[in-house]
Amino acid sequence: MTDIALPESLAAARERLHVALENAGRPINDARLLAVSKTKPADMIRQAWQLGQREFGENYLQEALDKQAQLADLEGLVWHFIGPLQSNKTRAVAERFDWVHSVDRAKIARRLSEQRPTELPPLNVCIQVNMSGETSKSGVSLDELSQLASEIAGLPNLNLRGLMTIPAPTETLEAQRKPLAALREAFLQLKQAFPDAPLDTLSMGMSDDLEAAILEGATLVRLGTAIFGARGSASET
Ligand SMILES: *Cc1c(COP(=O)(O)O)cnc(C)c1O
Repeated sequence: MTDIALPESLAAARERLHVALENAGRPINDARLLAVSKTKPADMIRQAWQLGQREFGENYLQEALDKQAQLADLEGLVWHFIGPLQSNKTRAVAERFDWVHSVDRAKIARRLSEQRPTELPPLNVCIQVNMSGETSKSGVSLDELSQLASEIAGLPNLNLRGLMTIPAPTETLEAQRKPLAALREAFLQLKQAFPDAPLDTLSMGMSDDLEAAILEGATLVRLGTAIFGARGSASET
């Protein structure tokens, strides 16, 4: 397990977000922190919860379900599924999560809507957009975005909340900002095209590009390493 002092690292992440928002001229409650807890034990999530963190992101279904079972006594947890999603996993995600950030196919969206239990509120979804071309296989292209958005907007048990991206890593702040600025532009266009959809979420910014993402309007940043420390092995990431 990683040697990280969670109280310090979580406080530092919150401070970093506040400073980034201030530097962007935005109110300090204008974006929130999603703690990405993949590969980290349930005890670390419990500790983060004790420190006031409520929203957690997970990538691997079985691992997430195991941790959810261990944390069933905690109140107010909000679970976000942020990893690639195959159709044979949609039912458990529809039943156990509050958000999915990685929707990039109509088939997946339809299954999530059909399988969402009716006693739960609609599942919140973001469409994952691929802003880096061939370096990533996940996500729709900007050309395909509007088509998928209209499919999702017509599904009864999903709320289309926004867009998510994982850009290819780049070095400079300016280079980081470019794809994020393009996603923001696509988000603004989407809001105009779908005025009835509850579009309020721009899910972008990770441990290495939080500042760029906040400058470009991110409303939810997904921090793993910065909060929980490095992830063990390459196969875990
Ligand atoms: C792992 C992961 C993160 C967190 O990445 P860090 O660089 O550790 O902050 C964010 N978003 C997604 C989709 C991830 O898979």
